[in-house]
Amino acid sequence: MNRSSLSLYLHIPFCRHRCAYCDFNTYTGLGDLQQAYALALGQEIAQVGGLPRPGDILPRPVHTIFFGGGTPSLMAAAEIDHILQQVRQHFDLHPAAEITMEANPGTVDAAYLAAIRAAGVNRLSFGVQSAVAEELRFLEREHDFAAVVEAMALSRAAGFDNLNVDLIYGVPGQTLASWQASVAAVLALQPEHLSLYCLTIEPGTPMHRWLHQGLFEPPDADLAADEYAYACTALAAAGFEHYEISNWARPGRACEHNLTYWRNGEYLGLGAGAHGHAAGCRYAVVKQPRVYIRRMRSSRPGAYPLSAAVAEQHQLSRPEAMSDTVITQLRLLQEGLDLDAFAEQFGEPFQAAYGSVVAQLEGWGLLQQTGRHLRLTERGWFLSNQVFYRFM
Ligand code: SF4
Repeated sequence: MNRSSLSLYLHIPFCRHRCAYCDFNTYTGLGDLQQAYALALGQEIAQVGGLPRPGDILPRPVHTIFFGGGTPSLMAAAEIDHILQQVRQHFDLHPAAEITMEANPGTVDAAYLAAIRAAGVNRLSFGVQSAVAEELRFLEREHDFAAVVEAMALSRAAGFDNLNVDLIYGVPGQTLASWQASVAAVLALQPEHLSLYCLTIEPGTPMHRWLHQGLFEPPDADLAADEYAYACTALAAAGFEHYEISNWARPGRACEHNLTYWRNGEYLGLGAGAHGHAAGCRYAVVKQPRVYIRRMRSSRPGAYPLSAAVAEQHQLSRPEAMSDTVITQLRLLQEGLDLDAFAEQFGEPFQAAYGSVVAQLEGWGLLQQTGRHLRLTERGWFLSNQVFYRFM
């Protein structure tokens, strides 16, 4: 894909039930808004696709779309189809574009999967989180593992050949053995991609309250590190490439959409609470679905890339753009940071900007330079936040 090609992130802010650890922009009990929301999202796509940008003559090329949530699989297939039609009408959608939808096991059936596949969705990302019943209950997930097995089988039957599974480690009450059981259970389903996240207990969530009420022991950081190390070994043995700190893929199946983020590329964030990065600007769309719909009905857009529903925007300074580039690209364990591309983009050698920081991190064994690329070491994978903090 060429450098000017965009990614689109489309946020669907609806869930049936709120999981105990969730701090995403999502709402329960708003199912009656979904149809109006799909229309508003279509309007936002049309609006941003039509905003003039100097130098643009043809519609802007798009090579990935990601429906994130929330639970995008709660949207009717006809609503997904409408949204994708709007993208095709107002952008130049590449015929081989990766189009991902996040889905919860238990929210999809054969007819639904066939309909969204026909609409153009070609990759699914299932929020599995664990194969262990007690852990799913603790996380307050609505599904059991049998629903995961069924959803994966139905997806294959509907023609999906690119499936991701999300798992969570560092869960209170989890043991190394139960984590190993979850990893083995999802590997048996033969996904093309795995995303493994360490649980973070965010303020304002029920789980945060329970922790402060002493209802469970805090997560054990050493156990979480052991779980991550186990996953690194087990997934390598199973033929997966560890291409990003938290992501593994079969060869050729890395998530193209997320690669846009990690290469610090441009993406438009559309839908309530979505974040975007384009034309040197980071921005966020208003969070509340009702306000979002109202704004899309009545307001005028700003300048590209800002729709009428954007609530916050920030023009990146040069030091911010440099720092973002380093932090996002170092997440890519094989690619790393391309030092020549950095110098070309910013007109300044990387060493001149960050030489002393890098020398310190190399001394601690957290970074290493090979040729003209800088990468995290294996030790650095475990301490990546410490590394990134020093580039801020
Ligand atoms: S399904 Fe996902 S977005 Fe919805 S409440 Fe649970 S964690 Fe949050």
